[in-house]
Parts: sequence; C-alpha cells; structure tokens
Amino acid sequence: MPFTRWAKDEPQELPRVPARRTAIVTCMDARIDPLAALGMHLGDAHVIRNAGALVTDDTIRSLAISQRMLDTRAVVIIGHTDCGLEGLDEGAAVEAIAAEAGTVPPWRPGSFASVEDQVRASVEAVRSSPFIPHRDDVTGFVHDVGVAGGVRPVA
Ligand code: ZN
Repeated sequence: MPFTRWAKDEPQELPRVPARRTAIVTCMDARIDPLAALGMHLGDAHVIRNAGALVTDDTIRSLAISQRMLDTRAVVIIGHTDCGLEGLDEGAAVEAIAAEAGTVPPWRPGSFASVEDQVRASVEAVRSSPFIPHRDDVTGFVHDVGVAGGVRPVA
C-alpha cells in the first residue's frame, strides 16, 4: 500500500503553524507538486487547491483562517500552463452540466483566456480582500507543466 509507506516515511511531529509562514493557492492539476515547485517540504506551507487556482470566497475563507489562526504571512498563487479551464467555453460547460444534472449549478466553472492574467487577477483579489490581514507579500507564478518545467513570476 503506497499510502502506508508515505505515512511512515514522513515526519509525524510537525508544528501546526507552517514553518515558512506561507499559504499557497494552486490548481488541483495532478501534475503540480506545489511544495516541490517552491523548494519547500511537508510542514512548510498551507496548500489550498481548486480547479484553476481561483480566488473564490472559499479560498478567501481558507486564507483568512491561515493568517488569523495559524500565523502565515505570505500568499503565493500558482497557475499553470495547459490548465483545463484555460479557454473553456463557460456557457457551453454550464449548459451541459445543467442538462445532465437537471438543475443549473450555483457556481460557474471559472474559465479564463490567459493563465498569466488569471494569476494577476487572483493576486489582486487577495491584495484587495478586507478579510486577509497580511497583504504585503502576495505573489503570483505560472508553473510550466511541460518539458521546460519550473515556475516563473507573473505578479
Ligand atoms: Zn489547472
């Protein structure tokens, strides 16, 4: 069982407060290892993931808890190349979901035209949220999931 080995190999006595005082917001994409991408390790940062690395109300909720109750100070947004939401037809997607489910979802898929612009918008959304007490250190990166690899700053 791989999960058993993983649990045994990792340190078990980590403090609750992330060592690097950082919260990372990134996409759920299976090709991203957010801690490794930033040279971090287990225990270093909170990782908040959703489709598209979007800053939604729930992302703000998690960031607010991260900073107010668990002492993080920095926020890093990581979008990525080849995201399933980049260029997705939002209207068609909602229509298909509604047709299959029999009801219109209360959320939108959150598609975007450019990952760079989306990351910049997410950074701005965090910087302008009154619920986030520490907004001086909010940065944005795009992770290349292709052959090139690595992250590059965009905001
Ligand atoms: Zn993605």
